[in-house]
Amino acid sequence: MIDTVKLQQSLEARRARHLYRSRQVLEGPQGPRVVIDGREYLNFCSNDYLGLANHPEVVQAFKRGVDEFGVGSGAAHLVTGHARSHHQLEEELAGFVGRPRALLFSTGYMANLGVASALLGRKDAIFEDRINHASLLDAAQLSGARLQRYRHAGIEHLQQLVENNPSPDKLIATDGVFSMDGDLAPLPALAQVARQHGAWLMVDDAHGLGVIGATGRGSLEQFGLGMAEVPILVGTLGKGFGTFGAFVAGEAALIETLIQEARSYIYTTALPPAVAEATRTSLQLVQRESWRREKLQALIAQFRSGAAQLGLQLGESSTPIQPWIVGDTEQAVQLSEKLKQQGILISAIRPPTVPQGTARLRITFSAAHEAADVDHLLGVIAGVR
Ligand SMILES: *Cc1c(COP(=O)(O)O)cnc(C)c1O
Repeated sequence: MIDTVKLQQSLEARRARHLYRSRQVLEGPQGPRVVIDGREYLNFCSNDYLGLANHPEVVQAFKRGVDEFGVGSGAAHLVTGHARSHHQLEEELAGFVGRPRALLFSTGYMANLGVASALLGRKDAIFEDRINHASLLDAAQLSGARLQRYRHAGIEHLQQLVENNPSPDKLIATDGVFSMDGDLAPLPALAQVARQHGAWLMVDDAHGLGVIGATGRGSLEQFGLGMAEVPILVGTLGKGFGTFGAFVAGEAALIETLIQEARSYIYTTALPPAVAEATRTSLQLVQRESWRREKLQALIAQFRSGAAQLGLQLGESSTPIQPWIVGDTEQAVQLSEKLKQQGILISAIRPPTVPQGTARLRITFSAAHEAADVDHLLGVIAGVR
């Protein structure tokens, strides 16, 4: 019997440990300023890194898409849900990342589940960085493969695990930019381990694509790596691209295998075509407007230099994800609340999302912020700590 009294008790216990999660209701679009309960806040916790989620051209493309295709896609891709917009977006994404094929998924979470479950079975092994995104860890569970986690960026540890593993098929899976720390995975070294041991390498570049690399092609571009080193590239569209959805890019045989086997692709409704139309426009902006990446880098540099003067303990990150490591969970929650009282939104990230004792304020920047916003943030931080 489901006992709600027991549920209530465990909720109370969670609250007492400062781990209770709750939502805030936005009254308008995502942006550098958002409105909650009638009050405007400076927003430093969204993943809309390039400021495209409410860009007028992206909004227009979405509306045109609705006029042409209606709202719902009505079916899965393999039934009658695969519209021209999806197909064109796949071709354009493949072109953007320089790979023969790309396949759209409804979310990044589902893309990761789909890849691991299509490529791996019980006899196989998957190796993951200890702080990989939850969706990659869940993907391992669903695939049934043996999951081995290596220390964060721990190449030697990974090497030992892979060497001692007899499984026929091996997959090394990593975030490109770590979502709660902002640092880059050591991709060249990971690629070398993969090559030495005949393992697949899969990079989930949810926070890199569009945002880092000279032309926005993400962490692979930053390191000068291609499909030979990283055969499986996952990108998400709800962060830097400002819309919704995700894709996997690689060789035709990989993509065709996913179409046949990835259950999170086959058994779900296709994205609304209008979302794909919005993303096609957003992809053009990502390529055309390199000033967004340049501005973002300037804001990050401004913040890091101001934070150093304040003596804040930041993670080693050159990306728009700048974690202020507080350590204690209760203290992180209190700081986040104090900042909110001062009109600044930064969420406290707590265990189990991050390891015990590393609770943090995850500060993120967007090309839609201004230098004055960063100055204001630094001033408020100086006051609350
Ligand atoms: C956000 C995120 C995902 C999930 O993508 P969604 O499209 O939001 O489901 C996957 N991997 C990483 C690293 C992420 O940060």
